Amino acid sequence: MARKDSDMSQQYDVVVIGAGPGGYIAAIRAAQLGFSTACIDDGSRDGGKPAPGGTCTNVGCIPSKALLQSSENFAHAGHGFAQHGIDVKGLSIDVGRMLARKDKVVAQNNDGILWLFKKNKVAFHHGRGSFTGKAGDAWTISVEGAAPATLVARNVIVATGSVPRALPGVPFDHRLVLDNAGALAIPSVPKRLGVVGAGVVGLEMGSVWRRLGAEVTVLEALPAFLGAADEAVAKEAHKAFAKQGLAIHTGATISSVATGKSGATVEWTDAQGAAQTSVFDRLIVSIGRAPRTAGLGADAVGLTIDERGFVAVDGECRTNLPGVWAVGDVVRGPMLAHKAEDEGVAVAERIAGQHPHVDFGTIPWVIYTSPEIAWVGRTEQQLRADGVAYRGGSFPFSANGRARAMGEATGFVKILADAATDRVLGMHAIGPLASELIAEGVMAMEFGASSEDIARICHAHPTLSEATREAALAVAGRTLNL
Ligand SMILES: Cc1cc2nc3c(=O)[nH]c(=O)nc-3n(C[C@H](O)[C@H](O)[C@H](O)COP(=O)(O)OP(=O)(O)OC[C@H]3O[C@@H](n4cnc5c(N)ncnc54)[C@H](O)[C@@H]3O)c2cc1C
Repeated sequence: MARKDSDMSQQYDVVVIGAGPGGYIAAIRAAQLGFSTACIDDGSRDGGKPAPGGTCTNVGCIPSKALLQSSENFAHAGHGFAQHGIDVKGLSIDVGRMLARKDKVVAQNNDGILWLFKKNKVAFHHGRGSFTGKAGDAWTISVEGAAPATLVARNVIVATGSVPRALPGVPFDHRLVLDNAGALAIPSVPKRLGVVGAGVVGLEMGSVWRRLGAEVTVLEALPAFLGAADEAVAKEAHKAFAKQGLAIHTGATISSVATGKSGATVEWTDAQGAAQTSVFDRLIVSIGRAPRTAGLGADAVGLTIDERGFVAVDGECRTNLPGVWAVGDVVRGPMLAHKAEDEGVAVAERIAGQHPHVDFGTIPWVIYTSPEIAWVGRTEQQLRADGVAYRGGSFPFSANGRARAMGEATGFVKILADAATDRVLGMHAIGPLASELIAEGVMAMEFGASSEDIARICHAHPTLSEATREAALAVAGRTLNL
């Protein structure tokens, strides 16, 4: 725990600024490694109680998955149960109760993190942390909040995360024009919902409100739908979402957004260049996120911020200042909770003199729509662009016994392997629980496995994971069930 000096500053080995997945995990790992550790976070709930967990816990991963689950249950009861012989009459949704459940799930996670801090002897400071200068070879950080404090540490981990980007000239009014926090708290199902941006957040939030009955229109500026995903997966996803009633327009350029009594009026040009006007009861803007460094006191100590606003770091998360590190959304790389966590662990271990490694090539990507989409490694189009000779194998869930029994037989698993060595270069899945299946592909790539290795591993029957094994068998042209 901290030593207090005569000037009442508190001395720690490690101070972490931000308790999102990057920061709180870094703090716990640092404490496990024997460092006296403090973590500062300014997130609040219920009139001022601490709400550690960052974007992920409060307005990101966790609440979005809570609402996806609620809305999927509603959709199953409405359309999915009938095939099982279950008829539901008088189905309705109480949005207030659904949102209250989501808030409860979030609060459980906030409290869980505070408990983990206690268990691991991490000192938690609720407030805004800013660099103020140096004390010898250590950094001084002031905490502004209900209990102001000055912390001193030789090692500081910046994990201040990100904030939503607004459309140029269209600020969030948190009433009609919503960011991710607003999208997770719409008090009743909007009749007409507009979503700007067909990325992960836009598709997940669009799915939630569409399943509950909203007419959802998604406007995406890029010409291709889900350009980062494997082409075959993106095509299958587009087909599935269109069937569900999500109207997705790619190549859409927004010229203006005006808010008034009738809602948000969006003037936009479609991919063919035709002018369009759409009126929405709510408009969710999900066009990406910007790193958060405001209020951090970067100038006070000369911490380098790059031209895009990120804290500049090297491949090992070192900043330009000795002993100052940065992880997660506030630095380059994918804005994903598990990437932030892995960087947090790696930095704590580096401070302890260890040599961990975070491989961006094996970070999984997941979109929790229905069907779910998940991938790791390179897509077919990337392998072609990189000039890599590869072999691919796919297996559809329509030929998988468990998927058929579940009544969720849309989609497929695809394995891509090096043509010469058979080493797995990518796994792409669209279908039931793709988010869970992808872990096998990540493990295979981390262990340098071949597609034959996956094909020779005994997979339990009947499971969805048999589709992964069959996709691996398909690489060698020898599926057993197709
Ligand atoms: C709707 C939505 C859904 C998402 N779903 C997923 C998903 O399913 N899977 C996934 O991997 N990712 C998801 N993400 C992304 C994920 O939330 C982020 O990548 C992740 O939260 C980044 O973690 P972080 O620790 O870097 O920052 P954050 O989680 O943003 O945490 C930063 C924390 O630092 C605090 N802070 C900032 N400045 C200061 C300061 N000066 N003093 C004190 N505290 C400060 C902030 O208040 C915050 O609590 C989603 C994001 C959104 C918006």
